[in-house]
Amino acid sequence: MGLGLFGLHGQDSAAQGMHPRFAIYTLGCKANQYDSFAISRELILRGWQPVSFDEPADAYIIDTCTVTSVADRKSRKVIRRAGRAGSNAIVAVTGCAAEWAADKLRQISGVELVVGNRMKNRLADDLCRAYEERPSSNRPTSVGTTAFPPAPADEHPGETAPLIVLTGRARFLLKIQDGCNRRCAFCIVPHVRGKSRSRPVQEVVNEAHELIEQGIREVVLTGIQLGDYGRDLEAGRRSFLHLVENLTAIDGLLRLRVSSMLPQDIDTDLLSVMANSAKVCPHLHIPLQSGSDRILKAMHRGYTAADFLSVIDAARTALPDLGLTTDIMVGFPDESNEDFNATVSVAEQAAFSDMHIFKYSQRPGTEAAQMPEQVEHSIKEQRSDRLFTLSAQLNSVYAETRLEKPADVLLESVSADGRTGVGYTETYLRASVRGTGLHEGELVTILPRQREKDHLIADVLHNPS
Ligand code: SF4
Repeated sequence: MGLGLFGLHGQDSAAQGMHPRFAIYTLGCKANQYDSFAISRELILRGWQPVSFDEPADAYIIDTCTVTSVADRKSRKVIRRAGRAGSNAIVAVTGCAAEWAADKLRQISGVELVVGNRMKNRLADDLCRAYEERPSSNRPTSVGTTAFPPAPADEHPGETAPLIVLTGRARFLLKIQDGCNRRCAFCIVPHVRGKSRSRPVQEVVNEAHELIEQGIREVVLTGIQLGDYGRDLEAGRRSFLHLVENLTAIDGLLRLRVSSMLPQDIDTDLLSVMANSAKVCPHLHIPLQSGSDRILKAMHRGYTAADFLSVIDAARTALPDLGLTTDIMVGFPDESNEDFNATVSVAEQAAFSDMHIFKYSQRPGTEAAQMPEQVEHSIKEQRSDRLFTLSAQLNSVYAETRLEKPADVLLESVSADGRTGVGYTETYLRASVRGTGLHEGELVTILPRQREKDHLIADVLHNPS
């Protein structure tokens, strides 16, 4: 590719001349983050310049999420903000909300393009066409004419860094699979992402080479249902192992991380590849959702609590220092106190190092939305609060076990004097490190000295530079 994509953001306006400028705002999952990167890459190849969402731009793209009603609301809020940016800016909406509710989104003032997931790879073409079709006097006039309204104060700060995949220099979320063949009762995703599709091994490996040339040091394999990877390829499920082996053989790739996988997709072959490779991080994200067999069955998750715990046992046997993170949903229809207590019990037994907790929300078009016995909001709040407390406790217990034991941290940001840096350990604990001559993108060996809130404080033991 050779475009220096990671360096483009931040050039000054004079250097950018009158190239049209675009800003992209990404909501939702890692797959969306990758999609936004792919759209950005296509636009850059066509001569567009990326800017941040708070800057004047000729086009604002919102890559939406509809997985929960909260995500839906946030998506619409950002679209409305973009629509108020000025009549000259093109507002283009894509992602899962665009797939599911295109007509509604088209009615939002200022929206010009709505491109669902199935046509997402044509968004750059559509945007260029919309731009070119405007008489030049009516074209967005680029630099300095359109200001994006500032974010409302209540907006989640973690979602105001839309160009993270363009500006990050160390870790990259590489999407290798899209869609899902399962039908979890609560989930809208298969409706908006379609059937599972895998990218061929060689295509992914080629992209990884390009990323490494651009300074990426850790690749996180990402998909909607990663466990489906390869089922549609000639080598079947073994394709995933081939992919991991091919990627870890690349010089310059320091770490490979596997993102979310269902417990039934984690087998001894995968664990053995993870255990035998120094590059594959001993970290698994296995979504539990519920610890109640009754609820798991109603959700159509395809495993029981005992199945889940036995997979974790096998994983910990293969990878004794395993960092184990999860997703848990509270308030699925008809979830009783007993069901919820079963979830708490499984979470304690699993000893997760971190838990992502979601309150169930009714998504029209899903099976669970039709179920009677929807759980009251206040009960969901209580259950969610209890799990947040448990998550903090479990995280602290796990982090304590890592103190005074060497670990590796990939530095994702470093202070100007090279004396402090921040990154993640191989087991996915955030660490603030102290040393000298530190550089972004380096893998340093650290000794964690103490734990502070949600991160480790550590000294650098070994620095490759
Ligand atoms: S596995 Fe279930 S929760 Fe995950 S994307 Fe597929 S249907 Fe949704």
